[in-house]
Amino acid sequence: MAKRDYYEVLGVGKDASADEIKRVYRRLAMKYHPDKNPDDKEAEAKFKECAEAYEVLSDPTKRQRYDQYGHEGLRGAGMHDFSRMNVEDIFSMFGFDDFFGGIFGGRGGRSSRPTGPARGYDLETTVELTLGDIARGTEKTIEFTRQDICGECSGNGSAKGSSPGKCPTCGGTGQVARGGGFFQMVSTCRQCGGAGQIITNPCKKCRGTGKVPKKRTVNIKIPAGVHEGQGIRVGGEGEPGRGGGPRGDLYCYVRVKPHEFLQRDGNDLVAVVPISFTQAALGTTIDVPSINGAKGLRIPPGTQYGSVFRIKGQGLPDIRSHRTGDELVQVTIETPTKLNAEQQDLLRQFAKKENKRVSPKSKSFFEKLKKHFADH
Ligand SMILES: [Zn+2]
Ligand SMILES: [Zn+2]
Repeated sequence: MAKRDYYEVLGVGKDASADEIKRVYRRLAMKYHPDKNPDDKEAEAKFKECAEAYEVLSDPTKRQRYDQYGHEGLRGAGMHDFSRMNVEDIFSMFGFDDFFGGIFGGRGGRSSRPTGPARGYDLETTVELTLGDIARGTEKTIEFTRQDICGECSGNGSAKGSSPGKCPTCGGTGQVARGGGFFQMVSTCRQCGGAGQIITNPCKKCRGTGKVPKKRTVNIKIPAGVHEGQGIRVGGEGEPGRGGGPRGDLYCYVRVKPHEFLQRDGNDLVAVVPISFTQAALGTTIDVPSINGAKGLRIPPGTQYGSVFRIKGQGLPDIRSHRTGDELVQVTIETPTKLNAEQQDLLRQFAKKENKRVSPKSKSFFEKLKKHFADH
């Protein structure tokens, strides 16, 4: 599925400020929020599309890579796999809990969000494969960047020798009450994010977030027969969990590099090969490109333009049944453009002979043509 332009998704200009992007994202996230659009898959997809756009455009490094190289530039940049994340996680990810908590105050679940262990976020990356890789299966080394536990503070966010203090806003409860009397509304404390503690002396390396971007290299086994856009799950290679929770997973999506001569059609491969008109008329054997190098193909005498020949078993294996597809070779016929005097002479002699014995196929064609003009 082709990804839309992130600026277009949010409906902002290329020069939009960070504030504007944040404002617009909040508005759209509200509009497509699943609480407001129950059982509306399209709204949920839009919601996630907006989150993805916001993840990139709200991050100066990712935004710059995107501006310069488009979607390609984000490969290995540690993008989250929103398609697999639930809506609650996407909220908390961008720190809008309090905002949404306030709007959708009726849902107690969010304001009393558990602060216990939680699984880390999934990440996605891309792997580029040749048709040869797909034919045989392969192992690839993938390098990507992910938010990882800060080594300086072991992920707690406090500078060495200091520890977090009680949050002054909520007094350590992690929740704040707003409004008064009967309609009092409780929501997550914005300052401490519900943890009840805040970092008083932040770690210099991670600026108190407890996480730093780190490069990571993993080897991925790719089974033979994978298709464009297919995701390969690598368990436990996502972001670290919170409060001792397990890591998320990494999803590696397949992109197929175009081949110079071969095109994929399911598990078959298709090649279009030009031959000369004499080869077509007299028959010959030609070399055709295949996934396993050049293969000899017999062209019978009298081959017509567009004829298709099948080479059994020279396609790609089916990922489940492992049955191998075929290669289909379609021939086109080239008309000579630079004939010398002798060749022209030979062809004229040939044409003279041909006039006396018109081949059946073209005879019927000219008869049809005559009839066509007679009828109209
Ligand atoms: Zn740190
Ligand atoms: Zn607090």
